[in-house]
Amino acid sequence: KENSTRENNVAKIKVVVRKRPLNKKELAKKEDDIVTVSDNAYLTLHEPKLKVDLTAYVDKHEFCFDAVLDEHVTNDEVYRATVEPIIPTIFERTKATCFAYGQTGSGKTYTMQPLPLRAAEDLVRQLHQPVYRSQRYKLWLSYFEIYGGKLFDLLSDRKKLCMREDGRQQVCIVGLQEFEVSDVQIVKEFIEKGNAARSTGSTGANEESSRSHAILQLVVKKHNEVKESRRNNDGNEARSVKVVGKISFIDLAGSERGADTTDNDRQTRIEGAEINKSLLALKECIRALDNDQIHIPFRGSKLTEVLRDSFVGNSKTVMISCISPGAGSCEHTLNTLRYADRVK
Ligand code: ADP
Ligand code: MG
Repeated sequence: KENSTRENNVAKIKVVVRKRPLNKKELAKKEDDIVTVSDNAYLTLHEPKLKVDLTAYVDKHEFCFDAVLDEHVTNDEVYRATVEPIIPTIFERTKATCFAYGQTGSGKTYTMQPLPLRAAEDLVRQLHQPVYRSQRYKLWLSYFEIYGGKLFDLLSDRKKLCMREDGRQQVCIVGLQEFEVSDVQIVKEFIEKGNAARSTGSTGANEESSRSHAILQLVVKKHNEVKESRRNNDGNEARSVKVVGKISFIDLAGSERGADTTDNDRQTRIEGAEINKSLLALKECIRALDNDQIHIPFRGSKLTEVLRDSFVGNSKTVMISCISPGAGSCEHTLNTLRYADRVK
C-alpha cells in the first residue's frame, strides 16, 4: 500500500478482516469452519460445493488484506491493530472513521463496543499533556443512529435530527447533543446510555439494531479564550471553539439487510433499500478516497453525507470486516470479503 502520508506512517485506508470463533449454535449443527487465516494477512474461504455424484468438493477463494485477525485475537489486539495508530493523528487535524461491516451475528458490535472506550482513554491521556492542557483542548462525545435514512440522537431520548450543510462543505447535525468528556468513566456511561436507546422495535433488540447504523463520535476541540469585548452581542462563544480532529466509530447495519428489498413487509423493504444504498455509497466513497479523487460521491446516502467531512482532507479510514466462520454463512462471508476486497 502506498497511500501512507508523509508526516506519519499511518495508511489512509486500512482494511482488516476479523474472524470470530464458531458459536454454540454452529457447533451444535456441526458446521465446518470454512475460513483459514495465514500470516496475519491471508485468508482462504473454502466454499463447499456438492458435485453431481454427491462427493463433496470445495472451491477456494483466496484474499489478502492489511490484516486478518483470527478467532484467537482479543479486542485489545484489535484496538492495537486498527485504531491505536490513528490516535496521535487526531491532534494533527485528522478526521478518522472506523467501520464495522458484516452480516448480523458476525461480531460487529462485539468488535466495535470497546474501541471508543480505549480511544477515549488514549485521547484523554494526550489531553492531559501540558502542551494540550495549556492550549485548552477538550474532548467531546456524541452518539446517534441512522435508521431508515433518518437520524436519531441516542443521547437525548432518540430526538429526531436533521443534517445541514454550510457553504464550506461542513456538515452540521442540527440539535445533536455533544457532551464534554474528561474521563473514561463518563465515556462509558454515555456509551451505555446510547446503547440502551438503540432502536429495538417490536421484534427484539438485535433484530432491529441490525437495521441501523450507530455512529459514535469523539471530537477534539480547541477552546480559545475570548476577551469579553470580542464576544458576540449574545455572548456567543461559538467562534472561539475549533474542531481539531475527530474519530467516528460506525457499527454498520447488518450487510445482509441490504438484500431485504423483496420482503413482504413494506417497511422492511424500504429499510433494506436504504441500507443497500448506504453500503454501496460507502464503498464508492472509500474507493474514491483511495484514488485521491476530487469528487467524492458522498451524496449517495445519508450515511456518507453525514460523514462527508471525514472523506475530505486529512482523513483516515479503517474498515473492520467481521465474518462468521461457519459453512452455513458461506454466502454472506463471501459477500463481506468481496466488499472488503473492493475497498482495500
Ligand atoms: P453483530 O453485531 O455483527 O450482529 P455481535 O457482535 O452481536 O454481532 O456478535 C454475535 C455474537 O457472537 C455475540 O454473542 C458475541 O458476543 C459473539 N462474538 C462475536 N465476535 C466474537 C469473538 N471474536 N469472540 C467471541 N465471541 C464473539
Ligand atoms: Mg450488532
